[in-house]
Amino acid sequence: MTARILVCGGAGYIGSHMVRQLVERGYDVVVFDNLSYGNAAAIPQSVPLIQGDLLDTDALKALFAQNAFDAVYHFAALISVGESVSAPDIYYRNNVVGTLNLLDAMRTTGVERFVFSSTAATFGNPETPLIAEDHPKNPLNPYGRTKLMIEQVLADYGHAYGIRSVCFRYFNAAGADPSGEIGEAHDPETHLVPNVLLAALGARDGLDIFGEDYDTRDGTCIRDYVHVNDIASAHLAALEYMDANPGAHVFNLGNGDGFSIMEVIAAAEKVTGRKIPYRVGPRREGDAAILVADSSRAKALLGWSPATPDVETIIETAWNWHRAPKYGPFAK
Ligand code: UDP
Repeated sequence: MTARILVCGGAGYIGSHMVRQLVERGYDVVVFDNLSYGNAAAIPQSVPLIQGDLLDTDALKALFAQNAFDAVYHFAALISVGESVSAPDIYYRNNVVGTLNLLDAMRTTGVERFVFSSTAATFGNPETPLIAEDHPKNPLNPYGRTKLMIEQVLADYGHAYGIRSVCFRYFNAAGADPSGEIGEAHDPETHLVPNVLLAALGARDGLDIFGEDYDTRDGTCIRDYVHVNDIASAHLAALEYMDANPGAHVFNLGNGDGFSIMEVIAAAEKVTGRKIPYRVGPRREGDAAILVADSSRAKALLGWSPATPDVETIIETAWNWHRAPKYGPFAK
C-alpha cells in the first residue's frame, strides 16, 4: 500500500520542494497549510490542499479523522528571526502551541512518525568552528527558542508516547528546484539569497546588509547555505530511519562551508552577470556571527549526501526561478 504522508506547510518554500520529491517517488501526499505565506500554485494539482491552521484543533481533528496518515512532515512555522524578537507571542503560539496541537492529533489517531523542521538558530553563537548536534544550545532569539522547545517536547513524547521523530536543523536553506517552477519567496522577504536576487533584478532598491562589525573575515555574518532539494532528500531518508530506530533523533543539515554576506553577493554577481547594489546598516537583532554545520551524523546514519553543495550552483538554481516570468516571485 502507498504510504500516505501529511505535509503541514506544504505550500511554503521548503514544504513545496518536499511535496514534489514525495510525489515523484509515488507517495500519496496531503497538504495542510493556512496559506498565510504559502502559495497554492506551488503544489501539484494532483495533491489535495486542505486550507487550515494548526491553531484550529477542530480542523486538525477532522483532517486526522478523514485520513490514515503513515507519517507527518511539519514545515508550517514562522521563520523570521527579527520578527520573532519584536513579536514573540505569535512565534510561541504558532510554532509551539501549533506543533503541540499537531502532535495531539497524531497521538489520538495513532500516527507515530514525525519529521520536524528545526534550525541552526537553536545553537546561538558557536563555540567551535563546525557545529555538531551536541553543541550547546543557547538560542539568541525567540524563533530559535520555539524550535528548541519542540525538539525537547519530541524527546519527551518519544519516551512517553512512542512518537518516533527526526528533527532536522537546517542551516541556511537556499536555491530552487531545477525545473524553475518553484522557488523561495516570502512577503515581506527577509532572507539573504532572495533579497540579493531581487536587488539583481532591480525589484528592490539594493540589498541592506545587517552589520559589518562581526568578528568574521570581512565583518559580515557567515552562513552555511544548503540546497532546498538536499534538505528534502534528507527528509525522505528519515522515513526509513524512523522505521528502524524508535525515539527522537536530531540531525544537522549543511554543507560544512561558510560564506559571508559579501561572498554571497560576489557569487550572485558572477551567476547573474549583474552588479548588486548594497548599503551597510546596523546589525539585525538576534543574529549569530557564524553558523556552519558539521553534518557527519546525517551522512553516516542516513546515507545523506548533498547533490548540490556548491554555493554558486545553489544561487544559480534560485536565479533560474527568480527570473522566470511564468513562475518567479512576480508571476501572475
Ligand atoms: N541578511 C542581510 N540582509 C538581508 C537578509 C539577510 O544582511 O536582506 C543577513 C542576516 O542578517 C544574516 C544572513 O544574511 O546574517 C542570513 O540571513 P537569513 O535571514 O537569510 O537567514 P538566517 O541566518 O537568519 O536563518
